[in-house]
Amino acid sequence: MKNILIVKEEKKEKCLVCGKETEYLISTPIQERLFYIEGAGQFCQACHYDIYIKKNRSDR
Ligand SMILES: [Zn+2]
Repeated sequence: MKNILIVKEEKKEKCLVCGKETEYLISTPIQERLFYIEGAGQFCQACHYDIYIKKNRSDR
């Protein structure tokens, strides 16, 4: 087993849109995150819903 250095001050990703902290640390692999848009960045659940889901649903 490897020794893992624990970094106390890990920062959390902030939502690109509203600036709110998400539950994901910057060190969290993007594959393990929800609401991460490749080429854009991390969104919070509310903004992700607003931008990617609500928009599609009301598009008729
Ligand atoms: Zn947001």
